[in-house]
Amino acid sequence: MSITLNHRLADKMTEECGVFGIYAPGSDVARLTYYALYALQHRGQESAGIAVADGKTVRGDKGTGLVAEVFADTDRLKRLPGHIALGHVRHAGNCANRAVNAQPLVIRYRHGSLAIAHNGNLINGRHLRQQLETEGSIFQTTTDSEIIAHLVARSGEPELTTALKRSLPKVRGAYAFVLMTPEQLIGLRDPHGIRPLSLGKTPSGYVLASETCAFDTIGAEFVRDIEPGEMVTIDRNGLHFEKFAPAAPHAMCIFEFIYFARADSNLLGKNVHLVRKRLGRRLAAEHPVEADLVAGVPDSSLSVASGVAEQLGLPYEMGFNKNRYIGRTFIQPTPELRTLGVQLKLNPVRQIVAGKRVVIVDDSIVRGTTSRHIVEMLRKAGAREVHMRISSPPVIAPCCYGLEISSPTELIAARMSVDEIAANIGADSLGFLSEEGLLEAVDLPAEGFCQACFNGCYLVKADDQWDLDHNGCEKEREVQS
Ligand code: SF4
Repeated sequence: MSITLNHRLADKMTEECGVFGIYAPGSDVARLTYYALYALQHRGQESAGIAVADGKTVRGDKGTGLVAEVFADTDRLKRLPGHIALGHVRHAGNCANRAVNAQPLVIRYRHGSLAIAHNGNLINGRHLRQQLETEGSIFQTTTDSEIIAHLVARSGEPELTTALKRSLPKVRGAYAFVLMTPEQLIGLRDPHGIRPLSLGKTPSGYVLASETCAFDTIGAEFVRDIEPGEMVTIDRNGLHFEKFAPAAPHAMCIFEFIYFARADSNLLGKNVHLVRKRLGRRLAAEHPVEADLVAGVPDSSLSVASGVAEQLGLPYEMGFNKNRYIGRTFIQPTPELRTLGVQLKLNPVRQIVAGKRVVIVDDSIVRGTTSRHIVEMLRKAGAREVHMRISSPPVIAPCCYGLEISSPTELIAARMSVDEIAANIGADSLGFLSEEGLLEAVDLPAEGFCQACFNGCYLVKADDQWDLDHNGCEKEREVQS
């Protein structure tokens, strides 16, 4: 048995995927997609893939590993000519079948060929899969993309957009899909907009991406976010927008701001780094402490730590060095090797922390194991005091929308008080940002966000099996139209 040591430590919520799409006649779309996937690499390191369309056919190439590993032989890109492309980076957690689940999926069916890739999780996916299998469908992967592909194929509709409009009412959950036929690029977002998807413009066409940092990388300009429940079609006639679902409360995952998104991305018109700095200032105001310096756990907490330092009037220091070159590293899941895995990734800067009272800032505590290692490493490096500050409220409920938060029994904040957690991880003090503080710092309407893992208030009810497995998703937020 093995586990994957991801870009982030194992005891963290991990994003499912990053998606990208481009329609740009006259451009080397495969290469632009390759560059864009580099920018989205933080959203998934298990596999990467690119599919292209040239007006007649759809073909793809994919594999396990980082973008640079999968396309190390850049001749692979030359074998992908066309004017439309889809790209995908996948986080697969501890799931098996990493190779077979790599996306985009390219399928051929009665009405032609298409490629499909997604970010998110269909919470009734298991139910839909069972139903489709009972009716004779054969699945090759365990991805939600394949469920959508089957629904589209079985709809009998020759037009992909019509097939999608017939299929999507059957699915529930958090998703952003990009699809491609030989002639069209399509992007769509779930009715609550839990997963992000933005539209950009290049000199010769349009692009879609999970995050705007991908636009900067390829010189595209941001146009706007795809609306929740909206589908955009891009083809030789230009852009066409339509709603495929009735109006529903917006609920983007607030962890995009806290942790998932890259600091140079913009979400809902706000720069992620600046929001994180505000989270830091508010966190420090809520939990002041006398100390010598402030440091963040790289990378997502660096922006927050700078805000904490500013508010406390303390030096902002590099407390940890992060090894950015680990990539996909497989280690045995014994406690000793898990510890080694954390140390491989992060190493405290002894000369900075030795003899000092250190405020260490992180984005979340899930099981508590990572926090324990971080405190331990700082103490071993000679820190006199370690005060941990967390830029999110305590995570007390699992996430049913595609992020790997475990069952409530594994969530340390669901079992212990803040003081008990501080003792458990060995910190001199511990402070979590309040829900009010989080929303004030984000500075957008509260009802626009999913915060279910902080309050157990789920917007979309999960299926019965998910409830049984996780004992969560018990409350459903009232749906306003
Ligand atoms: S439950 Fe938490 S992690 Fe999951 S979508 Fe909602 S805010 Fe994001």
